Amino acid sequence: MAAEQAVLSAMAVPRSEADGVVGAHHAPLVDSHCHIVFRNFDADLDAVAQRWRDAGVQALVHACVEPAEIPAIRALADRFPELRYSVGVHPLDTEHWAADTQQVLREAAHADPRVVAIGELGLDLFRDTNLEEQLAVLQPQLDLACELELPVIIHCRDAAEPMLALLQERAERGVCPRGVMHCWGGTPEEMAGFLELGFFISFSGVVTFPKAEATQACARQVPADRYLVETDCPFLAPTGHRGKRNEPAFVAAVAGTVAELRGESLEQVALTSSRNAAALFSLPLHTV
Ligand SMILES: [Zn+2]
Repeated sequence: MAAEQAVLSAMAVPRSEADGVVGAHHAPLVDSHCHIVFRNFDADLDAVAQRWRDAGVQALVHACVEPAEIPAIRALADRFPELRYSVGVHPLDTEHWAADTQQVLREAAHADPRVVAIGELGLDLFRDTNLEEQLAVLQPQLDLACELELPVIIHCRDAAEPMLALLQERAERGVCPRGVMHCWGGTPEEMAGFLELGFFISFSGVVTFPKAEATQACARQVPADRYLVETDCPFLAPTGHRGKRNEPAFVAAVAGTVAELRGESLEQVALTSSRNAAALFSLPLHTV
């Protein structure tokens, strides 16, 4: 895709090196998972956007938890040209799945090229136990992603085993979509299974928490071409911002921790994770 090619070549030269600026970071960042449609952003969203732009966030992927959100998310994409979004039903929102929901999601994706993924979808056995019900909502969304050739954004909490088994079974049948394990909190062993299926791994503020040793081990071990960074805001503010509402600008703190863990510069992690996100979601990154 020509546009994607232009994006990657524009991103190829870290500007701090070109400029000879030491310590400053100019590489683009992507918040690959946010929820700024939530009401607690109503009052100050322009200021929030200014902060993410100041922090170098050039693109955001807005996740959707149920179809009623779609018009408001679309309006945010009209307001902020760097925003792309997914459409889908979250595993803790199964009551919003109805007989026509797959068709509603299909039409929303067809209607707007800024829909770049199906999700967030998945399994959550930490907060709920209705596995059968969650599977009944998950499977038709995975089918839809394959049909539309869109990646999926997967929420998986205390459910790595059934999720991996389900995706492996689908891969054997040739019906496993591409996608990302968002807000990763699993072990390196679990991560290896998802990597083998071609999935990306996305790190959130969780990786900054001192006790998140398994997640930190994953950030060290994940191949360079397979990780993203995200905020999942307004949830999970990174260390240093704990107790506050999380916001897209704080993705810089996530990237900073990943850089420390990998022994790389923030510049390098910003560039790598942005390239990966651009590749997965066909994002319209530009240099500023
Ligand atoms: Zn989310």
